[in-house]
Amino acid sequence: MTATTLINPADESVIGDVAHTTLDQVDDAILHAVSAQRAWSALAPGARADALRRFASVVGDAIEELAQLEVLNSGHPVSQARWEAGHVRDVLNYYAAAPERMIGQSIPVAGGIDVTFLEPLGVVGIIVPWNFPMTIAAWGFAPALAAGNAVVLKPAEWTPLTALRLGALALEAGLPEGLFQVLPGPGAVVGDRFVTNEHVRKIVFTGSTAVGKRIMARCSHQVKAVTLELGGKSANVVFADSDLEKAAATAPYGVFENAGQDCCARSRILVERSVFDRFLELLEPAVAGVRVGTPTDESTEMGPLVARAHLDKVASYVPDDALVAFRGTAPTGPGFWFAPTVLLPTSRTDRVVTDEIFGPVVSVLPFDDEADAIALANDSVYGLSGSIWTRDIGRALRVSRGIDSGNLSVNSHSSVRYSAPFGGFKQSGLGRELGPDAAAAFTETKNVFISTD
Ligand code: NAD
Repeated sequence: MTATTLINPADESVIGDVAHTTLDQVDDAILHAVSAQRAWSALAPGARADALRRFASVVGDAIEELAQLEVLNSGHPVSQARWEAGHVRDVLNYYAAAPERMIGQSIPVAGGIDVTFLEPLGVVGIIVPWNFPMTIAAWGFAPALAAGNAVVLKPAEWTPLTALRLGALALEAGLPEGLFQVLPGPGAVVGDRFVTNEHVRKIVFTGSTAVGKRIMARCSHQVKAVTLELGGKSANVVFADSDLEKAAATAPYGVFENAGQDCCARSRILVERSVFDRFLELLEPAVAGVRVGTPTDESTEMGPLVARAHLDKVASYVPDDALVAFRGTAPTGPGFWFAPTVLLPTSRTDRVVTDEIFGPVVSVLPFDDEADAIALANDSVYGLSGSIWTRDIGRALRVSRGIDSGNLSVNSHSSVRYSAPFGGFKQSGLGRELGPDAAAAFTETKNVFISTD
């Protein structure tokens, strides 16, 4: 196969073909990136900052175009897709401030001084999944470029269109040829070449835990740096003392946003036993109220799943005899539709409780007390996100500290702010993206001793 045929998830119409990058083309692109990076890192920090601000501005002017591409290619609701394109602009603007702040240290030592420099790594390979094609790409390429690196980016096979457009916009904004290249193709070919090509000095991988483990192992052959953002099975912990109405009204949006294709989806709702039945009574109308429909409709809150194969995988978790409490609605007819689904598993080890389903399916489970809530929340190989609903600030802090997870929110379902670090505990990942330190994660610290003799 030399190309992927893209399908609109909302109506199954054919969008077109995207040619795969060949191995020779990948190697050529990486060599091109090596020379572009040398020139880029030699620029004055202020010049690199200006170039990134121009890139942000060009992306800002293309928000509607990028959003419409994501609607077409990924089935994201248009209001969400606009937010995503705006987020790319904001991430670029945030990291445009970094080149002039890549500050080393001066260390007093006998006979002279030690100074440190934050040196760019060289070429960075970024491999992204299909669920948030442009935002996740930007979390990698913006800080990597800011730190003086070149970037080769591999989008997911199903969703390359916005990444390809961002690559073109970078050139329109005046970024040098070869500095930021988008290379579509299969993971096992193009992505794997990023891992095996010795000029690529860091891999930023976002995707499934299984592929992440393989990439980490293969990076070890060249002692190549790697950041992993992997799967999740996050808990939404609802205590009896919380604002139960608000917790129930918002719970569907904590898991069904992006049709549940969100690594941070709160796909386990854990409810204190004394309010379990009341919570379910409140949750049912909230789930029924989620507006599932055509992504181009301004009021749509949830669109289709990304692809037929993924729909089949999600559906396999809801067989005819599944313990369904209630479901929302979804369009019938063409498109990869799956209605929001609430399950009431009777066992804490049921695969719907332990597996990342990555679709609009949530399990609701009771817990007995604070210790049980923490134990149940932590009873997962993952540790990415989560929410805690309580009016007791002491409890909110105790439980936040008790849950082994990288991104928690109290009385909300917020996860990703570009100005704050993001990443997972346990098998949800390795390293952090975003926040004030992300650009430094794309550097090597060099120590230089200067003699005073
Ligand atoms: P995936 O692991 O199948 O693919 C991710 C990317 O890796 C794709 O671009 C794919 O082509 C590439 N790839 C596949 N095999 C490869 C190989 N052998 N070598 C190199 N690259 C390879 O994941 P997916 O199905 O696209 O995405 C869904 C997964 O991503 C979920 O598990 C989800 O939780 C995770 N995810 C995590 C985060 C996070 O920040 N933690 C964010 C979004 C998605």
